[in-house]
Amino acid sequence: MQKDISLKVSPSDASDLELIKKHACEQEQIVPERIHSLRIIRRSTDARQRQVWINLTVRLFIDEDAPDTVPYKPTHYPDVSDAPQAVVVGAGPGGLFASLRLIELGVRPILLERGKEVMERLKDIMLIKKEQKINPESNYCFGEGGAGAFSDGKLYTRSKKRGSVEKILNVFCQHGASDSILVDAHPHIGTNKLPLIVKNLREQIKASGGMVHFSTRVDSLIIENNEVKGVETNTGEKFFGPVILATGHSARDIYYMLDRQNVKIEAKGLAVGVRIEHPSHLIDQIQYHNPEGRGEYLPAAEYSFVVQAKERGVYSFCMCPGGFIVPAASSEEQLVVNGMSPANRGSKWSNSGVVVQVNPGDFPEYDKFGALSLLKFQEDIEHRAWVEGGCKQTAPAQRMYDFVNKKVSESLPSTSYTPGVVSSPLHEWLPTYVTSRLREAFIEVGKKQKGYLTNDALLHAVESRTSSPVRVVRNRETLEHEEMAGLYPCGEGAGYAGGIVSAAMDGENCAEALAEKLTGIKIRS
Ligand SMILES: Cc1cc2nc3c(=O)[nH]c(=O)nc-3n(C[C@H](O)[C@H](O)[C@H](O)COP(=O)(O)OP(=O)(O)OC[C@H]3O[C@@H](n4cnc5c(N)ncnc54)[C@H](O)[C@@H]3O)c2cc1C
Repeated sequence: MQKDISLKVSPSDASDLELIKKHACEQEQIVPERIHSLRIIRRSTDARQRQVWINLTVRLFIDEDAPDTVPYKPTHYPDVSDAPQAVVVGAGPGGLFASLRLIELGVRPILLERGKEVMERLKDIMLIKKEQKINPESNYCFGEGGAGAFSDGKLYTRSKKRGSVEKILNVFCQHGASDSILVDAHPHIGTNKLPLIVKNLREQIKASGGMVHFSTRVDSLIIENNEVKGVETNTGEKFFGPVILATGHSARDIYYMLDRQNVKIEAKGLAVGVRIEHPSHLIDQIQYHNPEGRGEYLPAAEYSFVVQAKERGVYSFCMCPGGFIVPAASSEEQLVVNGMSPANRGSKWSNSGVVVQVNPGDFPEYDKFGALSLLKFQEDIEHRAWVEGGCKQTAPAQRMYDFVNKKVSESLPSTSYTPGVVSSPLHEWLPTYVTSRLREAFIEVGKKQKGYLTNDALLHAVESRTSSPVRVVRNRETLEHEEMAGLYPCGEGAGYAGGIVSAAMDGENCAEALAEKLTGIKIRS
């Protein structure tokens, strides 16, 4: 007999399967010999009170053995070598999962990626720190795995209605992710584990007959009578078929290309601010209500907040407990910060973006750029950050309390941001629209979470790649571009996703819509 039960146990008991079994026996009033095996199928942390609890859902195998199966639901990928083909542009989560879903549905993906293979990409990423150089085709945003490859690998998403989160997590497990992501309420892979998983996803595509081309940048669409027939690339090659465009929010040349080729796009709101870094011990103390911090059994603590300041949302974004701040620019003369963390979340810092929502029309001086207005704003603020950082990848930074009090920091604390930091009056050169709201938010959060507002925390500028500043408009039903048949705008760059899982789900949705049209077989309900 199998039985799922709920248990509430201390963090130390939750780390020991024998103790979990003991609790299960006591609760169910059965002798330990009757439980042949147990599996944890859900785990979450309740840190609302000083006593932190771990809530578990445990599957008991009573008087029977657990089946000898893999812990994930495997997907079957047929051979599509001779199947009709589709072009997928961009090998981020959107493009990779679109390609895999096309294979499942009997369509051969031709996946084109401007950057390098994920392992090769690592070398260019190291150069940013060593030589302060950004390779415009291979960096934290561009290359196999997309912006997701050297990220935190947080797989938690709020957009559950857009597709099957469970399916995405299972595909990750099938390609090498720990099955803990199927269990944890806030699943997380870790930047050190992601590259191998990305490589396995690519090998799956190739093994099923799909094609993958690296260092192949799409420079224009082949359009005939308002229908996209294929793409032309920087290598001089043309690839034909319907196109899933999953180029991410950093491919500004793609937005300019669409504008040039009269493919309808529109300006979209995004959020801009700073990345704040606290000592992780301090965040642990605050979140676990314990001066001792997290102790031996709890993970580095997370936090999140949303506050209203001057009628605008100010919120924490992509929090990385025990993580690092990274240089996420995709071209020279830009400075962009983002965050990531390794699987053990073991660094001595915890960082988070703290950003203010900005919408088209908030900065009238950019209105003249029409659909590209917030993209131009984003370009300018990133260039300004680069200038303020000394025309290098050194990030302009200010202690938190000094920022709130409009004071230049005389010294800076240590930081996880390896290209280095330079003291800068962020309160003076970031737009007042943003700084005034950040200030209000820091004060308010500091009142609720004692210790959060501190000069031990360092603000790094600028956090500007929170989402796409442009939407590539598509039809809600067919997912094709509103005016251009054969074009499926996909993922974060098209403005329809934010984060690894939602981009992956959007990739699957676009693949289904494309396969339906190509094969004439109804797939979606
Ligand atoms: C440092 C960092 C940390 C992050 N941490 C997390 C996290 O923990 N959890 C989370 O959910 N999200 C995180 N994100 C965001 C997440 O990575 C993105 O939301 C997600 O990758 C978007 O997927 P996508 O496929 O739509 O686009 P992308 O991942 O941006 O992929 C687009 C791909 O298209 C390629 N491309 C661009 N232009 C062209 C062209 N012209 N021709 C061919 N190829 C092209 C790019 O090289 C890239 O590989 C993080 C992002 C960064 C930068």
